[in-house]
Amino acid sequence: MSDLTPLQKTLLDWFEENRRDLPWRKRYDPYEVWISEVILQQTQMDRGVQYIERFLERFPTMESLAEADEEEVLKLWEGLGYYARARNLLLAARQMVAEHGGTFPEDVQTARALPGVGRYTAGAVLSQAYNQEEPIVDANVERVLSRLFDVDAPIKSSQAQSFLWETARSLIPKGRAREFNQAIMEFGNLICGKKPSCMLCPLTEQCEAHYLGIVDHRPVPAERRPAVPVEVASGVLVHKGYIFIQKRPEDGVWPGLWEFPGGNVEKGETPAECVVREFMEELEWDVETAEKIAIIRHGYTTFKVTLSAFLLRFKDEHEGWPEPVLHAATEGQWVSFAELGKYTFPAGHRKLIDMIARDMRYAWFV
Ligand code: SF4
Repeated sequence: MSDLTPLQKTLLDWFEENRRDLPWRKRYDPYEVWISEVILQQTQMDRGVQYIERFLERFPTMESLAEADEEEVLKLWEGLGYYARARNLLLAARQMVAEHGGTFPEDVQTARALPGVGRYTAGAVLSQAYNQEEPIVDANVERVLSRLFDVDAPIKSSQAQSFLWETARSLIPKGRAREFNQAIMEFGNLICGKKPSCMLCPLTEQCEAHYLGIVDHRPVPAERRPAVPVEVASGVLVHKGYIFIQKRPEDGVWPGLWEFPGGNVEKGETPAECVVREFMEELEWDVETAEKIAIIRHGYTTFKVTLSAFLLRFKDEHEGWPEPVLHAATEGQWVSFAELGKYTFPAGHRKLIDMIARDMRYAWFV
């Protein structure tokens, strides 16, 4: 006789029939599971899978990643955001090669001591790669459990989180952590999604929220702080058909990424005045705006950024290549437009590059 509860059995049976072929499910190799889990944090599955395949093709083993150049890892990561994750992957891979024989540790405390490995990532790798009875609570599991058990506290509150982690642990059937954790995540992704498909759900009879008719109110949303508006200006300085870019310092926002110089628009100044001032402060270059390229709006963590981008030229004639005095960067480069593709930019600047590429006004240097 099965010693599974009806809930466990239903989820495992459902997974057996509905599991998708995903890259890390071929072999459950610890390295591949780890890379996949980190990429999928904050990323939609379809998009994430493309990144996982590209990443594993370029860095198929822990050793190959440990030997990688940070610039190349960041470039592969471009578009996923949260670049600290990519840097931590590299640091953790180097640490695992140096201290753990090039494999992901099987002990949860040792795993959690690695850069970027928290409770979620440790649980995801240990349960899927080593079948250890460690829980995982991601957004999918939050949705499923908060509906099944009618969790009425805001989902990110410590009260809700400790209930969810304890429940997720207690539900794992002995010896079947790998399947069960995937089953509940997959179920949250395919059935109990943001708009749940209760009509197709095999768990309706066990679902508190469904019984109470409050599915739309679970999970209780986390209290959101309103986004802070920020106005910035950046300049694409073109000289003899080449564009100036600079590399951001290792501390602060977007460490190590490349950018078009610029900064925050100050009170009482226009974006055009701002970009001219920033070039003087950051590079000691006297520039003027030739024209406005575009206004780009994008979100960054809790900020709502409005980026005004300008085409710039030097105010005075320069025969050669003026040397910048770098005050806000570790490196500067003159590059052709085509070469911009080799560098990693924050999302707003990448959007700007794409807009320039499509705009006939700039065909002369693109
Ligand atoms: S009945 Fe609806 S809300 Fe409840 S677990 Fe199933 S899909 Fe989710």
